[in-house]
Amino acid sequence: MSFELPKLPYEKNALEPHISEETINYHYGKHHQTYVNNLNNLLAENKDYANLSLEEIIQKAPSGGIFNNAAQVWNHTFYWNSLSPNGGGKPTGALLESLEKSFGSFDAFVEEFTKQATDNFGSGWTWLVKKSDGSLAIVNTSNADTPVKDKSLTPILTVDIWEHAYYIDYRNARPEYLKHFWELVNWEFASKNLG
Ligand code: MN
Repeated sequence: MSFELPKLPYEKNALEPHISEETINYHYGKHHQTYVNNLNNLLAENKDYANLSLEEIIQKAPSGGIFNNAAQVWNHTFYWNSLSPNGGGKPTGALLESLEKSFGSFDAFVEEFTKQATDNFGSGWTWLVKKSDGSLAIVNTSNADTPVKDKSLTPILTVDIWEHAYYIDYRNARPEYLKHFWELVNWEFASKNLG
């Protein structure tokens, strides 16, 4: 069994001017594809993971190559879906209510998420997750690490804060990239994940 690079849910230039086609060509076409290729190569040499789903591999694998590449395949697919050419603005309904309940207000959530993403040192991801008690929380992970390995957390939304996500468009300016992230957030996807 081998994994494939999932189809991007929009055209490669559809996120412009916030995220350029050139960034997508590298980030999706090269980085994400490389994680898929690396994972397939590693799984071809290790039969312990035969017939497992990507999530099951992430939950089973110890720290190392299989975990890193499986998690990065999953994280990137989730990230592409967290963005939309029709995104941005404010969520509605149950998601808005949950954000207000957990963070005080929608604006307070945006401020806190942006702060956490800005302060996440080095390469990693910033996530909105649902905890087992139903409340929402912001979680920072490093490198390939992902809330998928913690079965008590449900990922709702993510932003990739590896430099490869923004270096072409914004060079070293992560806060500038994050401003544009809010113009693309796919609240419809986040609402679906909230369940
Ligand atoms: Mn990335």
